[in-house]
Amino acid sequence: MKGKMKAMVFHESLNMKYEEIDIPEVGPDEVLVKVRACGICGSDIAYYWGMSPLETSDGKGPLVLGHEFSGEIVELGELPKSLGLFKVGDRVTVDPVQYCNACEVCKKGQVNLCENKSVSGVSVDGAFAEYAKAKYTSIFQLPDNVTYEQGAFSEPLADAVYAVQNLEVTLGDFCVVIGPGPIGLAEAQLIKSSGAGTVVVIGTRDYRLEVAKENGADFIFNTGDSNSKYYVPDITKKIAELTDGKMADRVLVATGNPEVMGLPFEISGRRSVIVFFGLPGEKDIVPVPALQTTFWDKRIKFPWLAPFTWPRALNAISTKLIDVDALVTHKFKLEELITALEKVKNREGNPLKALVIP
Ligand SMILES: [Zn+2]
Ligand SMILES: [Zn+2]
Repeated sequence: MKGKMKAMVFHESLNMKYEEIDIPEVGPDEVLVKVRACGICGSDIAYYWGMSPLETSDGKGPLVLGHEFSGEIVELGELPKSLGLFKVGDRVTVDPVQYCNACEVCKKGQVNLCENKSVSGVSVDGAFAEYAKAKYTSIFQLPDNVTYEQGAFSEPLADAVYAVQNLEVTLGDFCVVIGPGPIGLAEAQLIKSSGAGTVVVIGTRDYRLEVAKENGADFIFNTGDSNSKYYVPDITKKIAELTDGKMADRVLVATGNPEVMGLPFEISGRRSVIVFFGLPGEKDIVPVPALQTTFWDKRIKFPWLAPFTWPRALNAISTKLIDVDALVTHKFKLEELITALEKVKNREGNPLKALVIP
């Protein structure tokens, strides 16, 4: 489709402009999507403020950010057209992590670790724009009862599904989620739906903990704010009390905050599973007490991205295993993106997930 479109183009840190640029040209294995909703991710904030480099060849822009999106197919490349998998007008969501499906890593099924992958909004143009293109292999149809806005949450939710799969929840387990961001809150709901006996969510902001309480958590504890009515000064003691000293069966760390990296080892029990699923900094270290971890036969995992979990994520929304609407708190127009990033960063109006609606 030839023509121009509006897009927010990121040039360098603190320099992003509302511009008119060419509509992306669709290659033989690609489709063009008219963007209907695109979520704002913590990583978009990190890119805009220069806290992390893009994954372009030189780490710099210009690039259209935005990787959590849904929309309507407006054009098909040769390959998806000939396969008849999609048609113009289809309502879809897009896995921004586009694997090559041909390298040795992909052929072993480890697609999330593909070394030739491109990522919409991170290494190639994304969806803070009227249109975005993607490989047909990373397109998923939205179920009829899933809205575009809910569909835009399928990227963080697919991540959450992969983390929870790795947690291996068994019936009745005592489970703890550390970090009630949008993904952590989604994980708490999925854990409860997976048959956990008790779900505890630990955080430092009451408004987020209260969303957890309404969506899957049995107990919420604030470990950072001594004025909070959920404040617990000694969380390890609290978990010991709640479990009669047996401690937690499953602990999911849904934050990259290095200050809490040691906590899961204190609060987890025998044969427990500990999953780290927040993005840590380059130099961060997880302090593992080796002897105690060995004596209690604990398993520690570091899942990454969301391989093969998209159908489950969409199914979880469609069958209402998870209430995505409770996690979407703000909506902005495309041209308001900078304001939106500032508000989310400064936590104005208690944001969870904010969406851009082009
Ligand atoms: Zn994201
Ligand atoms: Zn590959």
